[in-house]
Amino acid sequence: MTPPPALDRRWLQDAVDLSRRCPPKATAYAVGAIVVGRDGAELARGYSRETDSHVHAEESALGKLHGVDLSGATIYSSLEPCSARQRRSPTCTALILAAGIRRVVLAMREPPIFVDCQGVELLAAAGVEVVELPDLADQVRAINRYVMDVPGA
Ligand SMILES: [Zn+2]
Repeated sequence: MTPPPALDRRWLQDAVDLSRRCPPKATAYAVGAIVVGRDGAELARGYSRETDSHVHAEESALGKLHGVDLSGATIYSSLEPCSARQRRSPTCTALILAAGIRRVVLAMREPPIFVDCQGVELLAAAGVEVVELPDLADQVRAINRYVMDVPGA
């Protein structure tokens, strides 16, 4: 069951707006993530550094949903789910797969600044539907200007 594109865009815009709440940190992105259930209702949301200085957006949102059936859920993330991380594991890509989520909508691929991210490739290889709405990427880039727009980035 695929939601209409306008609905995807609205949820993803909410995730982008949510990322503005992330406490700033020079060495990490600001990301927002929202999990929406099969029936179209929001289940949980999270953002980078919401609960501690290393927690990721998807990790924070999924951490609120232990024991919930997410097989029909979609996760909206302003930035590509990570596939490698420096300070903690598992990765958000692994968490999404472990949660049984089969649909991921994102605005922007992670640029190769900190690590080589292959979240989209790994999710797609596992059979997850990955939808990119790149017209929202300019907002993500602006919010992450402190990380992305530095020399060499
Ligand atoms: Zn992550």
